[in-house]
Amino acid sequence: LFGNEEHKIVMVGLDNAGKTTILYQFLMNEVVHTSPTIGSNVEEVVWKNIHFIMWDLGGQQSLRAAWSTYYTNTEFIIMVIDSTDRERLSVIREELYSMLNHEELSKANVLVYANKQDLKGSMTAAEISRQLDLTSIKKHQWHIQSCCALTGEGLYQGLEWIVGRLK
Ligand code: GDP
Repeated sequence: LFGNEEHKIVMVGLDNAGKTTILYQFLMNEVVHTSPTIGSNVEEVVWKNIHFIMWDLGGQQSLRAAWSTYYTNTEFIIMVIDSTDRERLSVIREELYSMLNHEELSKANVLVYANKQDLKGSMTAAEISRQLDLTSIKKHQWHIQSCCALTGEGLYQGLEWIVGRLK
């Protein structure tokens, strides 16, 4: 799927967004190597040639400075959003732009998963896109994909977008 090159994907999102569920959908039936905990809310998983670094943005503010250590050579940021979590969308927005402004992430592309589309009252991808002002992002390629991590619906389409952009 990803050839022989090694790729690095950073997956972020607030706690409860669905990151773990998504990761395990990707990793299903695969032998996964998980690094010993490198931080209380940071996890590293290696699958095929992809290094997934994953963390909760809802975690302690004090740890955030250390996260940039993991940004080096990141090709993709996957931002997972709980589409029912309207209150915290502004937190996501802030984190997104702060990441995109980071020097080490200047070449990273962004995939936003609008997760939990199966739940009543979830915001549509278009609505989230508007709230996050995604069209204002000019220096990075971005894509928003609706999904349901529980069933896996939409996850593959998001991954397809990434594969299409791998160098
Ligand atoms: P994380 O904190 O971002 O890693 O989130 P988890 O993957 O642990 O998911 C948090 C909770 O949301 C769990 O109870 C999941 O089963 C649930 N969840 C994740 N994705 C979906 C989804 O697409 N739909 C619904 N209804 N629940 C989901």
